Amino acid sequence: MSNHHKVIVIGSGPAGFTAALYTGRANLNPIIFEGHQPGGQLMITTEVENYPGFEHGIQGPELMDVMRKQVHRFGAKSIYKFITKVDFSEKPFKMWTDDNELYTSDTVIVATGAAAKLLGLESEKKFMGFGVSACATCDGFFFRNQRVIVVGGGDTAMEEANYLTRHASEVTVIHRRDTFRASKIMFDRAKANPKIKFMTDTVIDEVYGTEEEFKKVVEGVKLRNLKTNEVTDFPVEGVFIAIGHQPNTGIFKGILDMDETGYLITKKATSETNIPGVFACGDAQDSYYRQAITAAGTGCMAAIDAERYLEAMNE
Ligand code: NDP
Repeated sequence: MSNHHKVIVIGSGPAGFTAALYTGRANLNPIIFEGHQPGGQLMITTEVENYPGFEHGIQGPELMDVMRKQVHRFGAKSIYKFITKVDFSEKPFKMWTDDNELYTSDTVIVATGAAAKLLGLESEKKFMGFGVSACATCDGFFFRNQRVIVVGGGDTAMEEANYLTRHASEVTVIHRRDTFRASKIMFDRAKANPKIKFMTDTVIDEVYGTEEEFKKVVEGVKLRNLKTNEVTDFPVEGVFIAIGHQPNTGIFKGILDMDETGYLITKKATSETNIPGVFACGDAQDSYYRQAITAAGTGCMAAIDAERYLEAMNE
């Protein structure tokens, strides 16, 4: 069985790389499926100031590049494919890639992370990539000296708004309530930025723009005040959605236990899922902390759990 491994890690964010680092150093030669976004969510962020060990901060993509190099030093191998189907009903566990290649393994570490949530409007979908974005660091550059809005009241919204002031002429944060979920430090930073304005108790009803054959651009949004129900027209060129994330766990539906929002359920203080030999770590199983460092920590837990499971298997 040439595609058989002791450990397969699905996902390449801080959780997946840390799991691969530990299992690599335990001589288990892990395989990492890097997925659609190698390096995970930190690839679309800028400065990471809260990852211990970097006194002056580090750029997200650089951190992931260093993690990958560190992991490869210990015998882990990256495969730049996406797992589309799994069968954990018997051992060895089976996984299929997007080009329909079968891999099997004795243990699986699920580190598939989470992705940005969207509002679910038809018009948002229509203009996605043409003025609507869920990643300021990816697309902010395109809005030089233009007007943009950021939807959301959490830390992501504050971070995106601050980042966008580097490019945009004016940034308006649209939030559905009048109190903010964002941490005080992030909120205060955004409030102190003269380019950022806030609009509370407000939601987007519709994104509109031009849709010609070679020209599709956002020209504005229809905003609704939730207290007065008044709808107003707000001209902008860019709409950034920053309303949180959802776990990338669709392929495990009906196989691994998850909560109603799709976060994998692990046994208290371990990375164990309902299937012995399958472990979960990082944002795929954490709707609460969702930090790079907590993802890395749970990746370490999953690696140690997998090592112990393999030891017990061989006893
Ligand atoms: P949060 O869940 O914290 O915030 C989501 C925001 O979006 C909330 O204000 C919510 O409103 C709003 N929202 C959700 N759904 C909708 C909707 N359908 N329409 C309109 N508004 C909506 O997510 P974040 O991504 O901001 O943060 C997630 C975690 O990551 C947090 O723990 C945060 O601290 C952390 N983080 C840390 C950063 C840092 O320290 N550098 C940077 C970014 C994130 P409401 O409040 O009404 O529910």
